[in-house]
Amino acid sequence: MTTDILTMTERSESTKLSPDYVRISAAAAMELGLKPGRLHRCNCGCINLLQNYPEGCFANCSYCGLARERPGIAELNSFIRVDWPLYPTPLVAEKIAEREANGGVGRVCIAQVQDGRANEDLLTMTKMVHDAAPEVPISALITATLMDREILAEIKEAGADIIGIGMDAANEEVFYNTRGKGAKGPHDWDYHWEITYIAREMYGPYRVNCHIIIGLGETDKDLVNVFYKCKKDQISAYLFSFNPEPGTAMQDLERQPIDRHRRIQLVKQLIEKNRLPREAIEFDENGFISHVGSPLKEVDKAIEEGDAFMTDGCPDRDGVMACNRPCGSYRPGEEYRDYPFKPNSKDLELIRKEMQLSDIITA
Ligand code: SF4
Ligand code: SF4
Repeated sequence: MTTDILTMTERSESTKLSPDYVRISAAAAMELGLKPGRLHRCNCGCINLLQNYPEGCFANCSYCGLARERPGIAELNSFIRVDWPLYPTPLVAEKIAEREANGGVGRVCIAQVQDGRANEDLLTMTKMVHDAAPEVPISALITATLMDREILAEIKEAGADIIGIGMDAANEEVFYNTRGKGAKGPHDWDYHWEITYIAREMYGPYRVNCHIIIGLGETDKDLVNVFYKCKKDQISAYLFSFNPEPGTAMQDLERQPIDRHRRIQLVKQLIEKNRLPREAIEFDENGFISHVGSPLKEVDKAIEEGDAFMTDGCPDRDGVMACNRPCGSYRPGEEYRDYPFKPNSKDLELIRKEMQLSDIITA
């Protein structure tokens, strides 16, 4: 019975294509009043939208619920349908304009997938949102494989002020195995970086970001290298957390331990905000952080501020982090990986316990 209903829904959704239709994160749908419900402890600062095509995505990233060759397609589709409901794009644009007039929208993000229609549709969708709510800043989360200099310029012209790039992997080998030829996917590490630097030149300092996932098989050293590389070139590095999706090739891989996640969040903060020098971080023979040479007082301050443990994401028009992605890296009821709000003193107490900092930082 359930399967029949799902199949009918799937059939109906496979005809509702972008640019006329768009998927929206459940949190953003609630924020716009398209879906009932309230978020626990926070608002949703960014309206995250995703293109919809019947095939999902023609790329084949091993960890992604939209991948071309994912096994267990029915369960997977149900995951996407529940978390990313589908609406007509003009209705979503209208709701964004309404929300902007009644309290404001931090940012809108339009995410591409790998599809022959995706560039043209991204331009159309960006214009649709920009025309409806010209003051709302827009990020285009692009598929670098589809990009070139001309299209990047057209996206800017259509109204986007930030380019997001799903680099995802923190080193070339992990990229090859999870997104490139090793996963029968179209993506190329060097081309992703080439597009990142072209976008950086066109959009300006910190108007381009790389999504980096912790937990795909990289070492701490790989992550630290990417953080320093991005910082040097004024590109934002945004940390995401691997969370196994049912039905994907990596569904059985464990998430990385929470102590590792917390330490990486803290070290990233020390690198980006406290100018921690590269040589202050030591690694063991497996490439994991063994010692951080930072004064305890500074470390304590960075923890107490709490920002290090919040979601990494694009800012609103005042420079305050907008893309907080509630439930983006954890399920309701699970521990937070990245907090979509400022952690309070009780949260910080837990974070300190999770981090087991005394192993890597000594007084
Ligand atoms: S390109 Fe993006 S949407 Fe497509 S399979 Fe890879 S991660 Fe998923
Ligand atoms: S950080 Fe958020 S708003 Fe920025 S590109 Fe990524 S998903 Fe989009």
